[in-house]
Amino acid sequence: MSLFTKIETPSVTYDQPTGLFIDGKWVKGVEGKTFETINPTNEKPIVSVHEAGPEDVDLAVKAARKAFNGVWAQTLPSVRGQLLSKLADLFDEYSDTLAAIESLDNGKALSMAKVDVQLSSGCLRYYGGWADKIHGKTIDTDPETFNYTRHEPVGVCGQIIPWNFPLLMWSWKIGPAIATGNTVVLKTAEQTPLSALYAATLIEKAGIPAGVVNIISGFGKTAGAAIASHMDIDKVAFTGSTVVGRTILQAAAKSNLKKVTLELGGKSPNIVFNDANIEDAISWVNFGIFFNHGQCCCAGSRIYVQSGVYDKFIEAFKQRTAKNVVGDPFKQDTFQGPQVSKLQFDRIMQYIQSGKEAGATVEHGGDRHGDEGFFIQPTIFSNVSPDMKIMQEEIFGPVCTISKFETEEEVIKAGNETTYGLAAAVHTQNLNTALRVANSLKAGTVWVNNYNMISYQVPFGGFKESGIGRELGKYALANYTQVKSVRVRLGGALF
Ligand code: ADP
Repeated sequence: MSLFTKIETPSVTYDQPTGLFIDGKWVKGVEGKTFETINPTNEKPIVSVHEAGPEDVDLAVKAARKAFNGVWAQTLPSVRGQLLSKLADLFDEYSDTLAAIESLDNGKALSMAKVDVQLSSGCLRYYGGWADKIHGKTIDTDPETFNYTRHEPVGVCGQIIPWNFPLLMWSWKIGPAIATGNTVVLKTAEQTPLSALYAATLIEKAGIPAGVVNIISGFGKTAGAAIASHMDIDKVAFTGSTVVGRTILQAAAKSNLKKVTLELGGKSPNIVFNDANIEDAISWVNFGIFFNHGQCCCAGSRIYVQSGVYDKFIEAFKQRTAKNVVGDPFKQDTFQGPQVSKLQFDRIMQYIQSGKEAGATVEHGGDRHGDEGFFIQPTIFSNVSPDMKIMQEEIFGPVCTISKFETEEEVIKAGNETTYGLAAAVHTQNLNTALRVANSLKAGTVWVNNYNMISYQVPFGGFKESGIGRELGKYALANYTQVKSVRVRLGGALF
């Protein structure tokens, strides 16, 4: 099997790399295995890619270690910044291809995939800007000592990313890691390997030295687990489910106590008060849950509406949702494409079934859309109670619940009644209410009168079981640097 395959999408035709990108070369896996990636729009295979196993992870780690100790250690911080900036420019130059691959492999609407590519290049450029602005402090203790800190790179970083934003997660992980002087072994999700491999060709084009970034395709239980337990990986950064996050933390503890950052699941409350601008709130609530087909860790899946506007809200929200165009991701007006895989489709349909069986009312949707591809109707449940599975568990699909509330105190308590704490939102025109509620919600991000606004300058991450550490912004740099204190004695006797 060749390591490049010509692929035709409805918008572009391009050469898809299918190998593993290790030490700046395209190679086959040691065990010679491949696996198919499926087009979720028509359920047909797109192409087979080479599969990494533990031995390939090992080769990638060796390459990353060599680069970390060698070429990358000798590369000036300002040059690291220029390389990232060049990579960002290449993302812009090849944005049509990158977006098309994302829509083909993941199923997301092309218009949204284009935004993902823009946000990815923005993120890479942003971290390129940080590369030569990373420095420690001097700290005064007494006249005879000079103390300073250095913010040194952690080393070889294993990065495991999910399938819901393949390119964006690639950039969120690689940007801060290499800006700070680390090297990387990144494993994509088995459902969506293609855009990351194409982006690896841009790593080559940008002139980033061999071994600095290694990209492998493979499964969680084999390649992913090999990263989490590898004795020569200094840090692992993971985005995915809370269940797997726990496994990674355990593997890190059992192996070499590598540093771990986790960005995990959510069951985020989205709260609408009587005094909200209802029309605006409905647009944000709709976007909050149905954007990316509900496949967002921060999806606003628990909607709370105050009693004074509850009836009006439900009617208008249903009408708004009915306008979401579900269908072929390559069609211009499509808002919602298919779910990423058969497994996800089945999981979500089971949740819908469980909501129906528990006695919740289906206000909209509640079924699959069409009869080909993994499409699901945007689904709204009312008459729900906190003990229902659909109120407690992350569904990761286009399914939300609406609950009525009376008081601010009551909704804060309900909003916080979850083991997750990734995001939340409040819609009100009263500044005091907005700030009181924002301060009381236990979540890493609280949106006021909007939802899903994410910028690479602003940190993102979870309270409680939604994660450890923060991505994006200056905060992310702390995940990829370790502080060394240097203490210099200038004079004076020991006692
Ligand atoms: P989902 O259930 O939505 O597919 P996962 O958390 O299972 O989300 O997957 C996210 C990423 O974690 C993927 O790249 C997947 O291959 C990887 N992964 C899954 N299981 C493991 C594991 N046991 N160890 C390491 N990585 C894993």
